[in-house]
Amino acid sequence: MQTSLYSLIFGTKNSIKLPMSLTPDLLIKNVIPVTDKKKGGSVTDIRIKRGKITEIGKGLENRKGEKVFDGENAFISPGWMDMHVHFREPGQEHKETIETGCRAAVFGGFTEVACMPNTTPPIHTRDVVEFIKKKSADLPVEVHPIGCVTKERKGKSITEMGDMQEGGAVAFSDDGDPVYDSQVMRVALEYSSMLDMPIINHEEDLSLSLPGHMHEGEVSTKLGLEGTPSVAEEVMIARDLLLAQFTGGHIHVAHISTKGAVELVRRAKKDGVRVTTEVCPHHFDLTDEEIEKRHFDTNAKMHPPLRSQQDVEAMIEGLVDGTIDAICTDHAPHAIEEKEVEFIYAPNGIIGLETAWSISVMRLLEPGFLELNNLIDKLAYQPRKILNLEIPEIREGATANLTIFNTDEKWTFHKSEVRSKSKNSPYLGDLLTGRALAVYNKNQFVLNTLKS
Ligand SMILES: [Zn+2]
Repeated sequence: MQTSLYSLIFGTKNSIKLPMSLTPDLLIKNVIPVTDKKKGGSVTDIRIKRGKITEIGKGLENRKGEKVFDGENAFISPGWMDMHVHFREPGQEHKETIETGCRAAVFGGFTEVACMPNTTPPIHTRDVVEFIKKKSADLPVEVHPIGCVTKERKGKSITEMGDMQEGGAVAFSDDGDPVYDSQVMRVALEYSSMLDMPIINHEEDLSLSLPGHMHEGEVSTKLGLEGTPSVAEEVMIARDLLLAQFTGGHIHVAHISTKGAVELVRRAKKDGVRVTTEVCPHHFDLTDEEIEKRHFDTNAKMHPPLRSQQDVEAMIEGLVDGTIDAICTDHAPHAIEEKEVEFIYAPNGIIGLETAWSISVMRLLEPGFLELNNLIDKLAYQPRKILNLEIPEIREGATANLTIFNTDEKWTFHKSEVRSKSKNSPYLGDLLTGRALAVYNKNQFVLNTLKS
């Protein structure tokens, strides 16, 4: 493998940040380009000079001063984007920082992320938006802040949306909590549509869901835990679809998880409502039975909760027919001491950036539900379309923003492979298939070397 060669040259086996001056001109050999339309084809080489793709073709010669990475027939696509992560900074740096979050993103193949504003202070003013942009400026990942819909995330009065947009915010959300007040949601949709930005709502009617420790169904009854019914999610989505239709605003349904919710979005799309949605890998992979199987492992606790088998199937159907636009992780780091408590007291959420690709390969690609180009569409194209961001291209003259990956490598997700500051994943110790080998973005080439 050329990986060790690269490490030798730079001696930075696990570092994610190369000073700009050290960024090499790079020749990527033997990769197969994949786009939203093209699921593979012939092997080619790609030359990158000062952050731009300068040449694409077969058998390119290595030039003086240029480093070489041999992809050995791996795939290459526009860099992936996760439009729903929690990086915890400012305020909860013991769980994650922008830098450690970006390290996890790179390991997962993501070159861009959008981070949710439930930080302390929340991302509810332009200066917090700018703080995040500044903090991430030198990192190989583009971090796009999502601003709050309401001041302090209190659900009462709308934030200065235009000001935050000018600072770099790409959407608005009070995620972690729903925008509860319908009048506030109406105004939010009206304002954000003037700015051509979506409102991303955490769809949960708290009067139906609380205290809800897991999905309400047979398993919760058996375990004697209070559950969150599917209808708690669906009621809120139905309201938001009506308000989006009424205002002409763009509603983005966060982390969709129920069969009924997918059906609501499917119908609304047919009716021309401006709605988009996203799903997390754990919601198309795991069911509420995990909580019993894993003996109340708190890494099976998240919001929305793991649902039933028919919900899992509905997520896959929604991805296949395009009702579900994008795959996101809802990467939600929590410290060990916070998660190592009784199930009902544990905070919601799991990390997801490091495993999203493998779970997608194993649950969607290998069984043949999605072709490779469809999967890349959900990971690289749709998130940027939803957020009106530029989509990177693989062509001569384009800025290099790329992910190099395979679909067949078997590797174990040992704890030592976790790049996030927190380790709360239900996939720890699992044998996975498919891995992101490297990314190139913002003039930086970062290689993902397995530690074990
Ligand atoms: Zn949420």
